[in-house]
Amino acid sequence: MKFNFNFEFNFNFNQTFSNYTLTLSHIVNPFIIFASAMETIKKDIRALSKEQLREFFVSQGDKDFRGNQVYEWLWNKGAHKFEDMTNISKETRQMLEDNFVINHIEVDQMQRSNDGTIKNAVRLHDGLIVESVLIPTKKRTTACVSSQVGCSLDCKFCATSRLKRMRNLNPDEIFDQVVAIDKQSRLYFNKPLTNIVFMGMGEPLMNYNNVLKAIDKITSPEGLGMSPKRIVVSTSGVPKMIKKMADDEVKFGLAVSLHSAIDEIRTSIMPFNATFPLADLREALEHWYAKTKNLITYEYVVWDGINDTKKDVEALIEFCKFAPSKVNLIEYNPIDDGEFRQADNAAIDMYISMLEANNITVTVRRSRGKDIDAACGQLANKS
Ligand code: SF4
Repeated sequence: MKFNFNFEFNFNFNQTFSNYTLTLSHIVNPFIIFASAMETIKKDIRALSKEQLREFFVSQGDKDFRGNQVYEWLWNKGAHKFEDMTNISKETRQMLEDNFVINHIEVDQMQRSNDGTIKNAVRLHDGLIVESVLIPTKKRTTACVSSQVGCSLDCKFCATSRLKRMRNLNPDEIFDQVVAIDKQSRLYFNKPLTNIVFMGMGEPLMNYNNVLKAIDKITSPEGLGMSPKRIVVSTSGVPKMIKKMADDEVKFGLAVSLHSAIDEIRTSIMPFNATFPLADLREALEHWYAKTKNLITYEYVVWDGINDTKKDVEALIEFCKFAPSKVNLIEYNPIDDGEFRQADNAAIDMYISMLEANNITVTVRRSRGKDIDAACGQLANKS
């Protein structure tokens, strides 16, 4: 059974035409273009919302609850094949097979660090690769997931920036990374995944809609049912999108890769700061706190000769006063060219004592998985 013309037209028109090669007969009769393309292109069923799935089944003369059943197979049970949907009739499964595909990721390569960290090279349905990381500690296992193939931004200290952005990840591709890491957590550490951070490849706020859709599937009871309080979206600081997140009343946490509270220095290491300067970022963060009452985490690396002076700490302290916040001082992991070097312990100690003297919570985060290039800033598809 094929689904009717209207449904296909509504959902597949753009995708169908963008992937189709014209022949002479197609030019003569546009209907042939559409009819032929319908034969060759199948839509990823996970691009449909639950409501669209329900409407689809109604359009087929079936009951709308069939849409709920299929949705549950896709997002709660993680089915990758229609034939696995055992409470759906054979005919219906065949009809789904005829009309849709279930695109899904494959863990192409898995590396384990001496400290237990696992890095996955994840193959997407079109052959592109992204990386995701499982970080185990005594109390929790955390998934660090990617949101883009490459990155739209150009932070000088980050290996991913060398890859350039090739495309955004779809919600299901983000979701699948979490499911894969949850399985690894159960297999290797005997416990389910407890936390998720969007700190892998890409700037999540440059793929805002898909990141939010993925988080919706991860947190909804019909999906993985995880608490949004266990999710942190880490951004390099896109003011407009931080405001939008606040207005959308998201329930997850926010971390900002700050690294300097002085415009000139921040622009030299994160060039997009020239477009989104600290004054705009500060205003967006004030808006975030006013709306969500969620404190902000500033991710901060101290580099030798870049941001290791008293003046740098004083600027950070001033920045922290605008909205309740804490500072994570992150150990830096060198990338190939070695242009950036972690500052010495004296500089780190100066940061800690000055921040604490100003009642700002500060933690020092040791990076994990350095031996397999899985630590912060090292993800660059080298495995
Ligand atoms: S640090 Fe984040 S935002 Fe900056 S280039 Fe790397 S992945 Fe992109």
